[in-house]
Amino acid sequence: MTIQLKDASLLKTQAFIDGAWVDGDQGETFAVTDPATGQHLADVASVGATETRRAIDAAARAMIEWKALPAKSRSDVLEKWHQLILDNTEDLAIIMTAEQGKTLAESRGEVAYGASFVKWFAEEGKRVYGDIIPTPSDRRGVVVKQPVGVVAAITPWNFPNAMITRKAGPALAVGCAIVLKPAAETPLSALALVELANRAGLPAGLFNVVPGIDAPAIGGEMTSNPTVKKVTFTGSTPVGKLLMKQCADTVKRTSMELGGNAPVIIFDDADLDIAVAGALTAKYRNSGQTCICANRLLVQEGIYDAFVEKFSAAVSEFRIGNGFEAGTTHGPVITEKAAKEIHSKVQNAVEEGAIVVIGGQPGEQGACFYQPTVLTNVTDDMRVFREEIFGPVAPVFKFSTEADAIRMANDTEFGLAAYLYTESMGRSWRVSEAVEYGMVGVNETAISSEVIPFGGVKESGQGREGSKYGLDDYLETKYICFGAL
Ligand code: ADP
Repeated sequence: MTIQLKDASLLKTQAFIDGAWVDGDQGETFAVTDPATGQHLADVASVGATETRRAIDAAARAMIEWKALPAKSRSDVLEKWHQLILDNTEDLAIIMTAEQGKTLAESRGEVAYGASFVKWFAEEGKRVYGDIIPTPSDRRGVVVKQPVGVVAAITPWNFPNAMITRKAGPALAVGCAIVLKPAAETPLSALALVELANRAGLPAGLFNVVPGIDAPAIGGEMTSNPTVKKVTFTGSTPVGKLLMKQCADTVKRTSMELGGNAPVIIFDDADLDIAVAGALTAKYRNSGQTCICANRLLVQEGIYDAFVEKFSAAVSEFRIGNGFEAGTTHGPVITEKAAKEIHSKVQNAVEEGAIVVIGGQPGEQGACFYQPTVLTNVTDDMRVFREEIFGPVAPVFKFSTEADAIRMANDTEFGLAAYLYTESMGRSWRVSEAVEYGMVGVNETAISSEVIPFGGVKESGQGREGSKYGLDDYLETKYICFGAL
């Protein structure tokens, strides 16, 4: 084992089902590796459909008492879990950098971000209000909100902590139980989180983690088992569509947080320094591997050259490397396959006439590295316009008018986040309302936190995570009619 922690017992490698650490029935395991070094980190239990079914049954049993508790009692457990996450920030960050590659500073930031969802929903779970409806007769209509039932969650590797807490937080807060399949690239963060939930006193069966290499087997059970009432997924659009289809047979509720193709629209009247700083963060955070990362920089012709010069100069200051090393600003991408996929998109653009201003090649630091890249002379028929890049590559497109910018921004099947930079108040309103996205940042790209409704439209998904709206995804609305009054 190569991960050195203050509390070594946070490094778990088994599945967590019904309050117990268990191996897979077949004794199978899968390897977790450090993308920066290729080093083997751990072998983790790989479970399949049978163990997943057992976890779902345990969740259903555990929910009976949990949902009947006063919200305050559930909140008390979540508050303890929140504190334990904060108390163990350094160990959780070390685990995350080791298996995911992001810099230690980014990992610490994500642990705080992840913890914030637990805290928020510990509070918000106490405010699940209903309604009393005056009816046209002598009856009274009452609306109560009840937990949706057993929740199955499937999460990605780009945020191995926060994508879990923003599902488990609201689910547990309102009285649901959850069965989670973390990404096979980053199961150790998930297992450490559930260990802390266990230490916080969360009763057995309420939070189960089923790691595994056979995602279709686990996902197949989650989506077909009638006991599961809700599937919440963060990941790619093709897998999201598949899961939605699979959920149709048992009419499950779904929340889908899928791919994006975020535009950053920079108008001639923008403050250039603010726009450059925002675009840098939006593009290169987590080495370009967030679903709200800028995918396309759309820059108006009057400011285009000045923007490219300033932006590229800033990119040339980046230091890519091992996330544990001081001075590293950007870590590797998740796998060698991902690095190759990014390069193929760059090559496609170059073959069709794009100019590489900076970068454009795999990094020399290892198989999972890619150079921070800026491309100009790019067009809307290139893959870098149409597809999610999910890497540190910034294609900078040119536009003439506001109408052009809106048309280009909306010319995609995705609709997660869009950003715009302008000093004009009228334009900021007009464009914000005209772009078909679930979230819009005006002169700001750091838009996410636990207090806002995160989610997309079009093929970027459905449902909202975080904020007061984030509870709705885990609640059913029940109408009770009182008559003979
Ligand atoms: P990415 O390209 O970011 O890895 P994926 O959508 O492939 O996105 O992965 C997100 C999550 O979905 C991971 O936990 C992965 O294991 C899981 N997953 C992938 N394919 C399936 C599937 N057929 N059924 C259920 N889960 C799946």
